[in-house]
Amino acid sequence: MSDSPVDPPPAAAAKAGAKASAKASAQASAGAGAGVKASVKSAPKPAAKSAPQRAMEKLGLRRDIDLALHLPLRFDDETQVTPIADAPDGEPVQVEGTVRESHIELRSRRQLLVRIEDDSDSLLLRFLNFYPSHQKTLAVGARVRVRGEPRSGFFGREMVHPQFKAVATDTPLAASLTPVYPTSAQLPQAYLRKAVAAALQRAPLDEVLPPGTVPAGLPPLRQALDQLHHPPAGAAGAALQDHSHPAWQRLKFEELLAQQLSQLASQRERARLQAPLLRQRPGGLVDRLLAALPFQLTAAQQRVCSEIKADLCRPHQADNDGPPPLAQGPGERATPMHRLLQGDVGSGKTVVAAIAAAVAIDSGWQCALMAPTELLAEQHFRKLVQWLEPLGVGIAWLTGSRKGRARAQMVEQVASGEAMLVVGTQAVIQDSVHFARLGLAIIDEQHRFGVAQRLALRRKLAQQSLEPHLLMMSATPIPRTLAMTYFADLDVSTIDELPPGRTPVLTKVFADDRRGQVVQRIIEAVALGRQVYWVCPLIEESETLDLQNATEAHAQLSAALPGATVGLLHGRLPPAEKAAVMAQFVGGQMQLLVATTVIEVGVDVPNASLMVIEHAERFGLSQLHQLRGRVGRGAVASVCVLLYQGPLSATGKDRLRAMAETNDGFEIARRDLEIRGPGEFMGARQSGDALLRFADLAEDAPLLQQARQLAPLLLTHHTVAARAHVLRWLDTRADFLKA
Ligand code: ADP
Ligand code: MG
Repeated sequence: MSDSPVDPPPAAAAKAGAKASAKASAQASAGAGAGVKASVKSAPKPAAKSAPQRAMEKLGLRRDIDLALHLPLRFDDETQVTPIADAPDGEPVQVEGTVRESHIELRSRRQLLVRIEDDSDSLLLRFLNFYPSHQKTLAVGARVRVRGEPRSGFFGREMVHPQFKAVATDTPLAASLTPVYPTSAQLPQAYLRKAVAAALQRAPLDEVLPPGTVPAGLPPLRQALDQLHHPPAGAAGAALQDHSHPAWQRLKFEELLAQQLSQLASQRERARLQAPLLRQRPGGLVDRLLAALPFQLTAAQQRVCSEIKADLCRPHQADNDGPPPLAQGPGERATPMHRLLQGDVGSGKTVVAAIAAAVAIDSGWQCALMAPTELLAEQHFRKLVQWLEPLGVGIAWLTGSRKGRARAQMVEQVASGEAMLVVGTQAVIQDSVHFARLGLAIIDEQHRFGVAQRLALRRKLAQQSLEPHLLMMSATPIPRTLAMTYFADLDVSTIDELPPGRTPVLTKVFADDRRGQVVQRIIEAVALGRQVYWVCPLIEESETLDLQNATEAHAQLSAALPGATVGLLHGRLPPAEKAAVMAQFVGGQMQLLVATTVIEVGVDVPNASLMVIEHAERFGLSQLHQLRGRVGRGAVASVCVLLYQGPLSATGKDRLRAMAETNDGFEIARRDLEIRGPGEFMGARQSGDALLRFADLAEDAPLLQQARQLAPLLLTHHTVAARAHVLRWLDTRADFLKA
């Protein structure tokens, strides 16, 4: 019976001894039987999962190690009993006494009143919800141990809804603090507590790291986890809470090390992979493109272009432990590029993408460019058609809304190689799309793209045992600490200069009650022939509410600007309508565009010189910065108005003030990281849950440094240990890190 009713046995448990595992899980399910009505004796093979089991899985608690790493939120202290007279008001405490009175009162509300007494004093227990079982346990004469917060009530000191249990005079006190775990409504605390305790016993927590590699002073992992789950009575509570305790440090170190190891491993693995070697011919497509552009590249654009070209055109270096080159001559293969191109909004990433595409196409390889939304993809498509089609490059356009014959035709052109450049949304990587020779994939706004999609893209070349080169573009700069940890396997190119002739956007912060003034400004701007964006926030909980907001704003503004064309753009519009609205705005026939955040990225309308962002307090700073980048694209001085709904907290005010103070995307990203943590930058890379659950990049820099030093050593000299360590921590997510 290796099918544990609590969770499937981890692979390692098979080795550790299936018997121990079966016993532990039987205990856990017995615990379940006590708490809930589950009646698992010997689970039949395909045992239906109980509600708490399903709830546990939902929380990601599948393997023993997952449970072992599910740490308590706080602790209840059941290790001591306080005399009633000494129990301070308003603080959790455990007392013990004999029930002297117990009756149901019916006056204002039906309630159970119980008076207990110890040698020092008496205390009233008050229950507004109760069952016959309560009355039974709390019958006169019973001895009970009670936990709650005493307070002074009308009838003397009382506890409302305390926890209680019947005890004998010699019932021992708990030896360690009682953990209270984060849980959900379907998962009773008692059930979870038992499941964790059982998992902790059987989880394979033996030391896998070679002696001498763990920083001095840190306990073994098993000991650390035992302490964190079951701290002894009187344990240094503060250290356990503020995470400076050695047990915490050990856990954080483990986590950082796993993360560094997996990054390094995928970096080394990638170094062994091969991509087509591309070449830039003098006088070829790239030179012709540069000559045809209506502007000169900035110095920063030139620099990142050479960095990219160097990647694409560098022959594969066969290392000693790698397989021999697949091709006849070493000149045929390159190491796949894995590069992030970051640059502030408006810094001119698209033209860099066009140049990279031109290198690939000129070498006879196709290029795919994908963007997360149809709108954004279309912006690229327009530019690329404008620049590359006159030079004879066939360009295909693939999105979800393109169906039927038009789509079939595009797919055909991609398969035949007639279309050398393919632009679109994730429709580009559907299974039915086959590339003749995909050499380069460019992904815009990579942090918004799913990991699965990036993997699918890379598989497009798998049949040829080659990888496409990968270029990711993002306007959300990655702060240095993040680049070091999460993106250690990524080369980064940065465009740190805007094209000339831009006037910086002036940002103003207004309370919402000054809306009238703002509308007046809009009227003035429109009278001057300018165009205006009005951005409504995305309300995450409710798409309907979201839409309603935007619709209302649209109605109000239409009324305020009778002579003007006011458009409405939101996520629910069918793509064709979205495109029609956009085309009107881009074409200048529409003066005011009310939009939800669908315009977040990529829209390029130089004549738009005013943007109003409603409920600016609900946006992330980086998001605000991206939005703001939609204006200030022409020669006219532009203004961005951040409207907020008061009252704002001090941090809330600071955040908006930061927006007004700086136009520097890096500085904003840095502040955003401080305020919101790394989630914002990670997107799907973390597939739902944060990769770092315990460590904190800012706080744990010294541990990170130690992990960074140890990782290459382990990977080279202790491969087995390194692998075991990564598996323990990352399991299936390790795969995802390679994407
Ligand atoms: P982003 O980096 O935000 O994607 P874009 O590629 O959309 O920026 O470029 C913004 C605008 O600047 C576009 O209209 C683009 O054609 C223009 N542009 C790009 N590079 C230059 C340059 N070197 N000089 C002048 N204009 C440029
Ligand atoms: Mg762009």
